[in-house]
Amino acid sequence: MKFTTLLVLGLLLATALLCEAQKPGGKTKSKSKSKLKNKTKTTVAPQVEKQELQKAEPCSADKCKLPDCRCSDAMLPKPKFKGKEQEIPQFVTITFDDAVNAVNYAQYELLFNDLVNPDGCAATGTFFVSHEYTDYVRVNALYNAGHEIALHSVTHGDGTDYWRDADVETIEREFGAQVQMLQTFAKIDAQRLQGMRLPFLQISGNNNYEAVKNLGLTYDSSWPTQQHKNPAMWPYTLDYMSIQDCQIGPCPDASLPGVWVNPMVTWNDTEGYSCAMIDACVYPPADEIDALFEWMLENFNRHYKGNRAPFGMYLHAAWFARGRNYFAAFKKFMQHLATYPDVYMTGISRMLEYVKKPVLGQPFKSCETKPNATCQPVHCNVQKMSTGETRYMSVCDKCPIVYPWLNNPLGQNM
Ligand SMILES: [Zn+2]
Repeated sequence: MKFTTLLVLGLLLATALLCEAQKPGGKTKSKSKSKLKNKTKTTVAPQVEKQELQKAEPCSADKCKLPDCRCSDAMLPKPKFKGKEQEIPQFVTITFDDAVNAVNYAQYELLFNDLVNPDGCAATGTFFVSHEYTDYVRVNALYNAGHEIALHSVTHGDGTDYWRDADVETIEREFGAQVQMLQTFAKIDAQRLQGMRLPFLQISGNNNYEAVKNLGLTYDSSWPTQQHKNPAMWPYTLDYMSIQDCQIGPCPDASLPGVWVNPMVTWNDTEGYSCAMIDACVYPPADEIDALFEWMLENFNRHYKGNRAPFGMYLHAAWFARGRNYFAAFKKFMQHLATYPDVYMTGISRMLEYVKKPVLGQPFKSCETKPNATCQPVHCNVQKMSTGETRYMSVCDKCPIVYPWLNNPLGQNM
């Protein structure tokens, strides 16, 4: 079987297995675009959205400059860092996808508990949360602990076709409604919601990137690369044409100024096949702490001993249940990372702050300010209107009337 086919198969299999397949809700019902309250950074007028997009032109460093533009072929944060790669801070972006619940929350706490970066700031990760079965009280706790909360849609869609064929309006509705839910039920400031990841990593050409722009977000992190892993690809903007390999299309070809791509630089499994998410690796090592640890270290070293492009550890908490030693090995590896003088475990949006203003040595002058969003937990018993099922839901402050969904994100009485 071809290399590419295997990667695609592995990816689809793993995500399909891990992600709850859910029905797309209210696709035909709501015609109006969901407008975000208190989301002041979006100023795009409706007629601008309708305009034909410009085709992206090749990037050149003299046209495309930091902090707002970055060419996809720039293999160092700044050209003048050449020869000083060992002084570039190594970012590690750990991300978990899908619903946050009591079980995986306990694991997240154990993993990050007491881990500190070399600058004394807490080690953090990014949680791409999808709505169904999510415990918003726990999302609030992750948020207050300093982790980045990011978007993974309301419905999670009904397989890859839904997302591949999704128009801008559908994607905006899915992710816009989720912003409202996270604001209301987990008390999250919409300004801190900056990134999204498409379910099944199924992008939709320009559409999902246009949605990033229209929703006032900063980045998308759904697009894997297997060609640019050594040297590994740094995040870049879509002002100009991307050189990234398109493994699961359709990929964007328009100029979308200021939209950041955080490429998912793939890992190698033990047979040399590429995997965008750890749980999509077809041939992981034996279920032994040392074997798993060494394998993680090997993938990490391609970045650390190379051009120091951010090292992504992308997975679902369900992976920990696949092997007796998976959790312990992951924890051991994170603890190992915390011993380096130049390795920083942060959310993707924090890492992008560095990429916009890169320096050698310590990346930041101070720690991020942690939010302090008070949450009065309430446990609710509400009906999901499309199926009649009862859903239990923990939220901050006040129960919705019905189970929130795409066409009724706040679960109000219709
Ligand atoms: Zn998912």
